[in-house]
Formats: sequence, structure tokens, C-alpha cells
Amino acid sequence: MSRQRRHGSNGDYSDWHYAQHDDLTAIDIDWVEYCRYCRRPLALVETAHDVGQDKSADVLRRIGEMASIPVWIALSRDVNGSQRFRVRRVFPESGAGWRDLSSVEWYQVLAQYRTCHPISDES
Ligand SMILES: [Zn+2]
Repeated sequence: MSRQRRHGSNGDYSDWHYAQHDDLTAIDIDWVEYCRYCRRPLALVETAHDVGQDKSADVLRRIGEMASIPVWIALSRDVNGSQRFRVRRVFPESGAGWRDLSSVEWYQVLAQYRTCHPISDES
């Protein structure tokens, strides 16, 4: 018996997977920040449109632990023509809860992970 889908189709592979036996469970990974120079993965991000929901990322958090890279949830919304982000770091767990950030502030969070080839070295 296959599971009921909570959301609409996410493509052919997703449709096939959901039609299989319940023993197969999977997530799709929304976003991997990586270094353009050495291809090192820098952070994992679960993304969604912000509709005021709570959101967890338990499997992605475990992947981040295994890879020793940070995991964030980033919910985005448009506010008067500007993109705002409601974000929470789930690995390493920050304890800070949800933070409301501007586009520039969220960029700065992600840029801090560019320790192998810092952004200031690119020009
Ligand atoms: Zn690098």
C-alpha cells in the first residue's frame, strides 16, 4: 500500500517513488550551498514558501551531522517587493529559534561558510 501524498507532484521520479511500497522512504534535498572553486558542500538548506508554518528537517539534519556541515531551514516571502527570510539553524542546533532576516542578512549568513575560498578572494 502506498502512502498518501501531502503535496502535489514533484516530478516523475517522485511520482514513481511515492507509488512504491511503504518501506521506501526518502526526501528530496532542496538546496546545497557549495564552493564554486573546490566543489566542497558548505551547507544544506530546506526551503519553502513562508506561510507562517513551523517546519522541521530531521533527515536533512542527520545528513548535515554526518557531513559535518550546517543545516538551515529557510522560509521566504515577499514583503512590499522585498524578499524576507524566516530562518532557523537545525545543525549545529543554535537554540536561537526562528530569525527574521533581510535578503542581505541571509546572504551574510551563507557567505560565512565560504571558509575554504572566501568570497573576498574571488574578484
Ligand atoms: Zn572551496
